[in-house]
Amino acid sequence: MIRYECDKCGVAMQANDPKRFIVRLEIYAAAGHVDLDEEAAAAPTEGLREIVRQLAKADPDEVEDQTYRLLRFDVCDACRRELLERPIK
Ligand SMILES: [Zn+2]
Repeated sequence: MIRYECDKCGVAMQANDPKRFIVRLEIYAAAGHVDLDEEAAAAPTEGLREIVRQLAKADPDEVEDQTYRLLRFDVCDACRRELLERPIK
């Protein structure tokens, strides 16, 4: 039997526990996509080259953290209520 514990307070829960909830936290950069016209794509600017150079040297996990992350948590009913009242504190 798979046992779960609340990722917020640590209380034990069962797999089919009606008081076990899943919280998904999606974090991504607010800036929109970059439009590149054909000219820019064919002859990248120095700024774009610098970005590519920095990405080549960067830690892939850090790059991912800066662009998109989806996190999943199991929480108990009490913590679900608390999160709904104050999702960000
Ligand atoms: Zn909890």
